[in-house]
Amino acid sequence: MGTNYDVVIVGGGPAGMMAAASAAAHGASVQLLEKNDQLGRKMLITGGGRCNLTNRADVAEMVANIPGNGKFVYSSLHRFSGQDLRNFFKRLGLATKVEDHGRVFPISDKAQDVVNALTKHLHQLGVRISLGTGVTSLMVENNHCRGVMVGETVIRAKAVVLATGGVSYPRTGSTGEGHKMAERVGHHVTKLFPAAVAITCTDPWIVQREVQGLSLANVNITVFNSRDKRLATETGDIIFTHWGLSGPGALRVGRAVALERQREPDAPIRGALDLFPTRSSEELARELGKLAQAAPKKSVKNLLIMLVPERLVKVLLELAGMPPETPGGPLNKTQLAKLADLLKALPVHIKGTRPIEEATVTGGGVNIKEIDPRTMGSKLIRGLFFAGEILDVDAHTGGFNMQVAFSTGYVAGEAAALFVKETLD
Ligand SMILES: Cc1cc2nc3c(=O)[nH]c(=O)nc-3n(C[C@H](O)[C@H](O)[C@H](O)COP(=O)(O)OP(=O)(O)OC[C@H]3O[C@@H](n4cnc5c(N)ncnc54)[C@H](O)[C@@H]3O)c2cc1C
Repeated sequence: MGTNYDVVIVGGGPAGMMAAASAAAHGASVQLLEKNDQLGRKMLITGGGRCNLTNRADVAEMVANIPGNGKFVYSSLHRFSGQDLRNFFKRLGLATKVEDHGRVFPISDKAQDVVNALTKHLHQLGVRISLGTGVTSLMVENNHCRGVMVGETVIRAKAVVLATGGVSYPRTGSTGEGHKMAERVGHHVTKLFPAAVAITCTDPWIVQREVQGLSLANVNITVFNSRDKRLATETGDIIFTHWGLSGPGALRVGRAVALERQREPDAPIRGALDLFPTRSSEELARELGKLAQAAPKKSVKNLLIMLVPERLVKVLLELAGMPPETPGGPLNKTQLAKLADLLKALPVHIKGTRPIEEATVTGGGVNIKEIDPRTMGSKLIRGLFFAGEILDVDAHTGGFNMQVAFSTGYVAGEAAALFVKETLD
């Protein structure tokens, strides 16, 4: 195990790999330590194995999509933006493309190509990559991080970047060891919670498999606490599962549900699904009325099928207390309004979220108050830098978390290299 590297990077995910590339490009000799026997295991499963490496959004829009301390990474996103990342990969020979919601993927649709391009680049820069190397602690002397320990083995360095990720999907290697290492040298870790996570519901029509597997595009989903305070409203596709709601729309409100559950473990949380976010309740009632007038004998069930999937129609009519075969013609204004209101605010009863191990992203992490946002450097320990999901920063899905990892990695690597240059010992 070499001991003469300027910068040691702990963790070979997107944050660690970019930190290694950046530190090396800024003149440092670099060793990258990854406990798995391969780099970027989590990256490989993003975007359904295609690697959603960033988003086309500009910096302001990126920050708006980072509900967990987005402002903290503003300067990193400026220093190394989504466009910078795409240019970076272009220089490495990896072309990218933009898909729906601005999500960026490699043109080949293969996550492995992204990891391969990064790995090749690291080799070209002379980064030493040590796989199967699980770091156990940071070495700190006189408030200066001077390396790491791998079991009994000492790896000395002039600066260390900790990029060990969060605690979600632990089988990918992100098991929270970095948080513990940071705590042992005096940093604080805010309470961890599942972010970008699916929601569990108690409604029999959802959990008893009536609608399991059904997906709805561009739904507005709002969640309220027990005092009817609105916790979040988000738009996106949702999928009904046998335990609740998944899909990007549900994931976007998942963090608000998780935080409320931490505050009030047993209080009811309710949700409302707006199936037609661009239309008012009155418009929908009018449309239903027109459809009913055009075919007065048609059952209300068959009228609704013209607006929503059949499996959901059954649920809507049960909730409205209307027998499915009721003819649409005689429906009065109150009945039409009732149906329209259900289309605009289909009620769901929320139990909580799926566990943090199944969350796409970990909320909470190393306290950002203890980190300089311009360098990602520790304010407590000299020569210690942080990057990626280990930080108390979490974003919506759509490429924003990956960009946070790459941007903070870039900044941390650059700052670590500069720190080494400026440190004369
Ligand atoms: C199923 C899934 C889908 C996702 N989809 C998207 C998406 O579409 N878009 C998006 O932006 N984000 C997505 N994400 C989130 C994204 O993958 C993460 O935010 C990102 O990988 C974080 O990068 P990181 O480098 O900080 O951490 P990680 O990728 O978790 O990498 C950390 C690395 O550190 C290593 N490590 C941990 N402890 C040690 C140790 N003690 N010693 C040495 N090495 C160690 C781990 O093995 C791991 O390889 C998804 C996540 C999941 C789980």
